[in-house]
Amino acid sequence: MNSKIWLSSPHMGGNEMKYVQEAYDTNWVAPLGPNVNGFEEDLQNYTGAKHASALSAGTAAIHLSLILLGVKAGDEVIASSFTFSATVNPISYLGAIPILIDSEKDTWNMCPNQLEKAITDRIAKGNKPKAIIVVYLYGMPAKVEELLVVANKYDIPLIEDAAEALGSKYKGKSMGTFGKFGILSFNGNKIITTSAGGALISDDKELIEKSRFLATQARDNAPHYQHSQIGYNYRMSNIVAGIGRGQMEVLDERVAQRRANFKFYKELFANIDGVSLLEEPNEDYFSNYWLTSILVDSSKTGGISREDIRLELEKENIECRPLWKPMHMQPIFADCPYYGNGTSERLFEDGLCLPSGSNMIDEERDRIKAAIIKLFRK
Ligand SMILES: *Cc1c(COP(=O)(O)O)cnc(C)c1O
Repeated sequence: MNSKIWLSSPHMGGNEMKYVQEAYDTNWVAPLGPNVNGFEEDLQNYTGAKHASALSAGTAAIHLSLILLGVKAGDEVIASSFTFSATVNPISYLGAIPILIDSEKDTWNMCPNQLEKAITDRIAKGNKPKAIIVVYLYGMPAKVEELLVVANKYDIPLIEDAAEALGSKYKGKSMGTFGKFGILSFNGNKIITTSAGGALISDDKELIEKSRFLATQARDNAPHYQHSQIGYNYRMSNIVAGIGRGQMEVLDERVAQRRANFKFYKELFANIDGVSLLEEPNEDYFSNYWLTSILVDSSKTGGISREDIRLELEKENIECRPLWKPMHMQPIFADCPYYGNGTSERLFEDGLCLPSGSNMIDEERDRIKAAIIKLFRK
């Protein structure tokens, strides 16, 4: 059997161990420490956000962003329906109600028209949403300017779930720096990883300082343990942050490698009818192409569906995955209000994520190409 080609696997750069070793040698084996401070600085410098707090997970960052915006039980929070559940779960942690919004076809992300429709309808029903969480799936920026126009018109803060979009930009500005908060993730399959981890970024110094306070059990300033608020244990460890510092040194390389994968697939599918890729709509968009994703129209492929492609590649030990199943189709969120016209449902039906690791080698690309050509030649 051929070795497995993964959808996306960790890819170390070389200096990660140097920072981890430093932490070990200086006995900074704890939450917080010089690597955490260094990693936060790296994130600020890279994204252009004024402040960053390194956390235990992207999910923790979303949870804290909602707390910092004052979201409480019974409040409504708008979110992209087409996403990973971690975008929406923290809304439920707070007893708030997710209001789910469909995608548009160009970026597959939140549709500005459906967003405005939802806001006006929620306001008419007497419950103005407290926040909007927009997601940048597979690294593709959303129509962020249009979304901001709507958010500003109704004075609702925007949270950007950029967990998949570190290195992506819109008009040269990093994703995660357009709204009140940006969320990053360094989980094992993301464009860079710390094994597990996340960050909250913002230009608001006070809110980021407050996020650090909440993430370290909300200890008041006193010699004993004094608490006047509920706290969380969400800070990143100094060991984990060492991996992050090493990874930041190779982030631009990783973006280039993922973009090269996209180019490979674009050429591979150029002469195959019925298969289209998620692409930057115009030069304002810069995607890290975290995962190259395709749509398969089986009425034009001679009956070959996305599931046929997935199963054919699986036989060759090549991992592919259907796109995210929209939250409004998930049993746990099926009762949430949803505003849409079926776009994300069709994406889920016909879409597939292809192996996109930055550590993919030519022989692996050759195997993928051979399997695809074999299937479409039948
Ligand atoms: C990975 C991911 C998250 C969660 O990040 P964790 O670090 O795994 O908690 C949130 N949203 C999206 C869109 C993601 O892909």
